[in-house]
Amino acid sequence: MIDARNIIKEYTTGSGTLRVLDDVSLTVRQNDFLAILGPSGSGKSTLMNVLGCLDLPTSGEYHLDGIDVLRAKEEQLADMRNRKIGFVFQKFNLLPRLTAVQNVMLPLLYRGVDEGEAYEKAKEKLALLGLENRMTHRPNELSGGQQQRVAIARAIVGDPPLLLADEPTGNLDSKSSVDALNIFHELHGQGNTIVVITHDRDVAESLQQVVYIRDGKLYEN
Ligand code: ADP
Ligand code: MG
Repeated sequence: MIDARNIIKEYTTGSGTLRVLDDVSLTVRQNDFLAILGPSGSGKSTLMNVLGCLDLPTSGEYHLDGIDVLRAKEEQLADMRNRKIGFVFQKFNLLPRLTAVQNVMLPLLYRGVDEGEAYEKAKEKLALLGLENRMTHRPNELSGGQQQRVAIARAIVGDPPLLLADEPTGNLDSKSSVDALNIFHELHGQGNTIVVITHDRDVAESLQQVVYIRDGKLYEN
């Protein structure tokens, strides 16, 4: 599913060039359930953006589901993001003017699912995350943990073959974290491939495989 080789990602800032991913190679097979564990600032969110084709590496090779990402056309990448990948963003990226249910419907509407069906599916996922009473709330009317659960519902609503989740339990209390991880386990059981990025050792070590990231480098242990 994911075959990344020798990925380097550099940002150019006022004070020079910052190498954030330093020769990262990663293979994720279909139906793997992988945690990437590392401290704040180690490059986790940058790695998720590269793996999710939201950002291109500075150099390296990246094949995702058979597509050569560095040479693909933008439409191909957009299609990949819309149909194949569910994203849980660390900062949620919910649209502030839309209600919870409208936010969750978005990935389905992008794919051309009709509104009635999208609404029913979104409602179902919000209920799964314990938010049946928050459907018409806007993000600023929700707690951080509730916003995070809306973001998880949005990521899984289209049953994406690949789920990329950046600190998906970072704002959840321990019970909600367990609930969210159980939902991921259920998806994994249905054949989905899941990558959870986290700084929480307990979360990482409850998953099938763990790789570690420190200062932009990946380690097996
Ligand atoms: P993590 O998610 O592990 O906390 P990030 O990937 O967000 O780490 O950031 C890794 C490093 O890259 C940090 O030092 C951060 O300041 C820097 N960084 C992230 N995004 C940018 C950017 N767009 N421009 C410049 N530096 C960035
Ligand atoms: Mg981060």
